[in-house]
Amino acid sequence: MMAGLQQLPCAPRFLVCLALAVGMMRTGSSAAAAGDAPPGKIAVIGAGIGGSSVAYFLQQHFGSQVQLDVYEKDMVGGRLATVTVNKQQYESGGASIHSLNLHMQDFVKLLGLKHRREVAGKSAVFSGEHFVLEETDWYLLNLFRLWWHYGMSFLRLQMWVEEVMEKFMRIYKYQAHGYAFSRVEELLHSLGGDTFVNMTQRSVAESLLEVGVTQRFIDDVIVAILRASYGQSVLVPAFAGAMSLAGAQGNMWAVEGGNKLVCSDLLKLTKANVIQATVTAISLHSSEGKNFYQVHYEDEEGQGSSFYDIVVIATQLHDNKSNITFQNFDPPIAEFPGTFHTTIASIVHGYLNSSYFGFTDPKLFPFTSVLTTDSPAVFFNSMDNICPVNVSSTFRRKQPQDAAVWRVHSQHPLEKQELKILFRSYYSVQVTEWQAYPSYESSKTLPPIILHDNLYYLNSMEWAASSVEMAVVAAKNVALLAYNLWYHDLDKIDQKDLIHKIKTEL
Ligand SMILES: Cc1cc2nc3c(=O)[nH]c(=O)nc-3n(C[C@H](O)[C@H](O)[C@H](O)COP(=O)(O)OP(=O)(O)OC[C@H]3O[C@@H](n4cnc5c(N)ncnc54)[C@H](O)[C@@H]3O)c2cc1C
Repeated sequence: MMAGLQQLPCAPRFLVCLALAVGMMRTGSSAAAAGDAPPGKIAVIGAGIGGSSVAYFLQQHFGSQVQLDVYEKDMVGGRLATVTVNKQQYESGGASIHSLNLHMQDFVKLLGLKHRREVAGKSAVFSGEHFVLEETDWYLLNLFRLWWHYGMSFLRLQMWVEEVMEKFMRIYKYQAHGYAFSRVEELLHSLGGDTFVNMTQRSVAESLLEVGVTQRFIDDVIVAILRASYGQSVLVPAFAGAMSLAGAQGNMWAVEGGNKLVCSDLLKLTKANVIQATVTAISLHSSEGKNFYQVHYEDEEGQGSSFYDIVVIATQLHDNKSNITFQNFDPPIAEFPGTFHTTIASIVHGYLNSSYFGFTDPKLFPFTSVLTTDSPAVFFNSMDNICPVNVSSTFRRKQPQDAAVWRVHSQHPLEKQELKILFRSYYSVQVTEWQAYPSYESSKTLPPIILHDNLYYLNSMEWAASSVEMAVVAAKNVALLAYNLWYHDLDKIDQKDLIHKIKTEL
């Protein structure tokens, strides 16, 4: 099944190339007008949100004539996935999206999808013995409690997160103007200068203490939020921390029918060839002064390979998680330092043991979300009473004394004994072991985006911060980078002082 060199991707596809070039001249692309042939074939490895959105963006930029092959070894959606309980689906991976995540908002509109109806609920922070913080139904009372316990820390946190988010939002303008970045550091620098780059090197705790947030607030609140989001401590870098704290401020949404629909619908829209196969290696070949990448894969029928002009790797390369080797590259493609953090998601259908949380009468248990502090007595990171991915207008949350579906996040698979502590009884437990996020303490190095001339690594961005929207921002950046490099439009790459430049362009 090995493809021969005669199947190289830009083999005389003269008519297609010509048609594309004409098309691009019409749309005013000066680089394409210079006469460069577009790429013939592009491979994307991984069909999570990163892979499916990069396929869409690549097609937007290069045109629909380019052949797009997307390799997926498991399920389309990757870390966006659901499990079924009682014929209803529930998110078991990436669950919530911030209202300011504009790429995801655009996708939902483009694909004709809908926001899932929000069902209100209250949160609390549990220390293993008692609740250290409890949300009430009254906004002002919540604010008063925060002020009473922690002084101005809450306000200082909010101002810090808002400042980071405001600068982060610049990326949408840069990308709308076609600007791309060849390194994660360059992208961060263009958004927030040295401060943003330094935020990948120092901890969120250090940054918050510096702006006047108290240690007590960090121990009770920030720790709990980071345990719930990244399953890690306040030593995670400040940039990743800020992204996760922005999520804790509310304004979160999800896609009706499941977040993974965005991936499958984008792939349908682009009409990409989704190839159910595990990519095992990428090797470099040259012919008539041009580089080609041979993607080797294994599927049900055995081994195969195909040649491409451009390859985007949209999965993790750390820890050899994807088992992809690189051949014939000189210098060789370096190893990727660092490890990934395991998070166990247990979806439990059962009756909460509210006594464990100090509520002997289960009817009186008021919380739908329990976060935890870092205490030896606590064996889980967070637990949420979750709604199905389809929420009808008549849907009501179950009463606390009724059987409900809970998602418990923990570092290790919950033992029977631990499940018995949390639940009086249960009907079912479904466990997913996720290689969820970079283990941020394992490496402070931000991996490269460009691994070779036209070989890109989308998931390098995760080492700055890992989330659904960060994957889409990375995807848009890789598509723009690949396009600008292909057509030698170097003025659109790594430009300094972009805020000023864009203002004067308008
Ligand atoms: C439990 C959990 C909760 C989360 N909660 C949130 C949240 O609330 N909000 C948020 O924004 N983010 C959340 N995230 C993070 C978010 O889900 C991820 O950042 C995002 O989905 C990553 O997308 P991706 O496409 O980069 O990677 P992935 O989704 O991991 O996609 C990579 C794909 O590549 C495939 N693949 C790997 N190796 C190969 C190979 N050799 N050949 C072919 N295919 C291969 C994999 O099967 C996978 O489908 C959560 C993650 C987890 C695990």
